[in-house]
Amino acid sequence: MPAPSQGPARSRVLTGDTPTGRLHLGHYVGSLENRLALQEKHDCFFLLANMHAFTTRADKADDIRRDTIEIVKDWLAAGIDPAKSTIVLQTEVPAIAELTWFFAMLLPFNRVMRNPTLKTEIETKDLGDTYSFGFPMYAVGQCADILAFRPVFVPVGEDQVAHIEMCREVARRFDQVYCGVNPKTEDKDYARGGGVFPIPEALVGRIGRLVGVDGTNKMSKSLGNAIFLSDTPKEVQKKVGKIFTGRQSPTAPGDVNNALFQYVRAFIRDEARVRELEDRYTRGDNLGDGHVKQEVAEWINKLLEPMRARRAEFEKPGGDDAVIDIIRAGTKRANAV
Ligand code: ATP
Ligand code: MG
Repeated sequence: MPAPSQGPARSRVLTGDTPTGRLHLGHYVGSLENRLALQEKHDCFFLLANMHAFTTRADKADDIRRDTIEIVKDWLAAGIDPAKSTIVLQTEVPAIAELTWFFAMLLPFNRVMRNPTLKTEIETKDLGDTYSFGFPMYAVGQCADILAFRPVFVPVGEDQVAHIEMCREVARRFDQVYCGVNPKTEDKDYARGGGVFPIPEALVGRIGRLVGVDGTNKMSKSLGNAIFLSDTPKEVQKKVGKIFTGRQSPTAPGDVNNALFQYVRAFIRDEARVRELEDRYTRGDNLGDGHVKQEVAEWINKLLEPMRARRAEFEKPGGDDAVIDIIRAGTKRANAV
């Protein structure tokens, strides 16, 4: 397979996913959609954060391996093109682990523990006070994942913005301490000022936080509230049908800020129709939740259909081996970078 072309004008992009399950619609609107656009103009690196999967599943190495392969299938199905983008397996890039140690020394312990995303995760994933020492460490490791590739953009969902902020702090600190960059330097000038690391920018997708079908939490692969990109049309219909609104009848005025209408705006790609549904729902103009859900499910299925077809190619015998070859080739290139 030819290496992705790399002209001097192509600035770098890095982002990734943790192999804790398959990819869902939240990933799509939060980050994947941006990645598809970015791979056309930038030198993109997509990281499989398998080491980070161990922070909550250290006893499930086989599951992590399986999910790593599944996520790559999801990426390829969604349109990530290994001829344009580089797919990287975290554990096979030793420089990331080394860099993590140095960065851990540049971040105050309390700064890491104050990270709001970590706090939310500890709560929603029910980690209590028995989470491993390695769990908060993943936030430091993520700074290394990113900065190892010196990207300018990091396409992520809203929950990751706090992590990217920490990453930006580490980059500034490193450049100041080890490269003599003046602390008054503006973020955009760090590289020009002699810094090793540019200060990367988070690029949040069209919908920064898609709510799960439970109607409350962020859609998340580990919370059982996700519609997966690989779900069948029936599964999609069933899950959309579960979105709770609390509305009593088709003639009761409805609240278009509810979870169901977040899906309407995210997936019905027809502005006029969205306006019409919002208007009728607000007025309680004989528009039942069931009807709206049916329409949302149809649009989601329309989006997922071509992905299902592309995924099917990798589900044939030999599909896993083809995926592993892609991971190997990308990781080799990543190590060189
Ligand atoms: P986990 O439950 O294991 O944390 P996750 O579903 O949160 O899994 P991650 O691998 O942590 O998925 O996130 C991958 C990327 O997708 C991140 O950039 C994250 O911000 C984005 N993302 C995840 N869930 C959503 C969502 N519901 N809406 C928008 N973006 C999301
Ligand atoms: Mg997450």
